[in-house]
Amino acid sequence: MKKYLVVGAGLFGATFAHEAAKRGHKVKVIEKRDHIAGNIYTKNVNGIQVHQYGAHIFHTSNKHVWEYVNHFAEFNRYTNSPVANYKGEIYNLPFNMNTFNKLWGVITPEEAQAKINEQRAVLEGKKPENLEEQAISLVGTDIYEKLIKGYTEKQWGHSTKELPAFIIRRLPVRLTYDNNYFNDAYQGIPIGGYTQIVEKMLKDDLISVETGIDFFDRKEEYKDDYDRIVFTGMIDEYFNYRLGELEYRSLQFETEKLDKDNYQGNAVVNYTDAETPFTRIIEHKHFEFGKGDKGKTVITREYPKKWHRGDEPYYPVNNSQNNALYKEYRTLADKEAKKVIFGGRLGQYRYYNMDQVISAALTTVKNEFEE
Ligand code: FAD
Ligand code: UDP
Repeated sequence: MKKYLVVGAGLFGATFAHEAAKRGHKVKVIEKRDHIAGNIYTKNVNGIQVHQYGAHIFHTSNKHVWEYVNHFAEFNRYTNSPVANYKGEIYNLPFNMNTFNKLWGVITPEEAQAKINEQRAVLEGKKPENLEEQAISLVGTDIYEKLIKGYTEKQWGHSTKELPAFIIRRLPVRLTYDNNYFNDAYQGIPIGGYTQIVEKMLKDDLISVETGIDFFDRKEEYKDDYDRIVFTGMIDEYFNYRLGELEYRSLQFETEKLDKDNYQGNAVVNYTDAETPFTRIIEHKHFEFGKGDKGKTVITREYPKKWHRGDEPYYPVNNSQNNALYKEYRTLADKEAKKVIFGGRLGQYRYYNMDQVISAALTTVKNEFEE
């Protein structure tokens, strides 16, 4: 039996630790924050599960992952349908017939498609090479200007011309009256919050967990003391930024408790103009259909900001320049493969959703235990 050290008590680290312990291995989990669960951490405030690090909606088309996560929590039937507020005008998301109708007065899918075709003619048939061209190609110039450009440039701190097209392809575009933000077969929010999932994953006699511990304070000793290390922090930090810094996007969350029942009538409202400094406001109780103390609500404004060392690195910025640098770090990581596995959003520098993190961790488990 091997001795494992898992660095980071987020979803990747917890899934790995759970599976390793299930196979009889001893696992120590260290986490530098003062709580487990990484960015999916939720906590109870006035009977409302507050998503401390931004709105988290579980969605997947991977049946195995859905069944897996359902072992650790019961999910409600929440369907994400954010709305966009552009200078006081409200539009449905993702881009669908409700959006097109409000914007252009079109009624039928043919009319909507004709409008999009007319507007995308500015591209003169060019294959989209960046986020701006991809957006115009998908939904035309009006939606690009009102619902995409301002939001995206705030979110990423880059011009849409410098961002990869894949980011906007995360969102469905539909010629139906359907406001479901995702196309996945399964979707929901764990009743009672996300933290319990990680708590249950880590509840095993073979697992010990310590929070408030930074791996880098004792990196070399840990490498001597453990057979294997699963590292879910930033890969460039692990190598002491030897090849330069990877780029991340950070966020500041401003949470407020209000003495009212219902602030905005929806869990997520995006502010898509360039001037409003935050990207979205979430009202947590609507993830659980208004559950919580009467006359109380909790809202969080999300402000994107430039990442500097010491800030939380919420998003990798996967443009070609950063991906090329990551590849160089990957080469260094391969040389340490006997000792260290790099996993998760930061360890693999990938814009992973929760289901992809679980799936990646389960693949790592299979490889590690040669199953
Ligand atoms: P993390 O949760 O970041 O865990 C890594 C952990 O390692 C952290 O707790 C960190 O403190 C710790 N750590 C780092 N360095 C060290 C160190 N040196 N020593 C000790 N500990 C260390 N996904 C969805 O599927 N649906 C959504 O709706 C969704 N919304 C999101 C909204 C926001 C604002 C963000 C930022 C992400 C969202 N995600 C969503 C993605 C989701 O959060 C991630 O896929 C998932 O949490 C990643 O898990 P992880 O274990 O890789 O990383
Ligand atoms: N986006 C946008 N307008 C919106 C919502 C999203 O332009 O109202 C773009 C933006 O570039 C964002 C991307 O679509 O980064 C992906 O959105 P998603 O909701 O998946 O982002 P996340 O929840 O991961 O921050």
